[in-house]
Amino acid sequence: MSEYGVCTKCGLTVFAIQEICPSCGAETAPEPDSSLIEEWHEKREGVCCDCMAKGRVRRLVKAKGYNARTRIPEFRCVTCSDKKLAEIRARGVPV
Ligand SMILES: [Zn+2]
Ligand SMILES: [Zn+2]
Repeated sequence: MSEYGVCTKCGLTVFAIQEICPSCGAETAPEPDSSLIEEWHEKREGVCCDCMAKGRVRRLVKAKGYNARTRIPEFRCVTCSDKKLAEIRARGVPV
């Protein structure tokens, strides 16, 4: 079972044991499929910031315990973004 839940009103991610949202007081629900929580930005035409390859690039914006919204956008090709994902996983983020 997932250890996270989500507020049915404001969408805040909460712990599964929290039945009431600490932010707005609404009920929480078990977390939906984690693929819905992950958020990717993808560009058809871009340049990979690691290997400078041109083409389809993407970046992970949001996942459980990971939020890159505030960072400078770093788009990577599929190969490099897979490497980066492995790095993020190594830090303990379940993506
Ligand atoms: Zn809420
Ligand atoms: Zn690359």
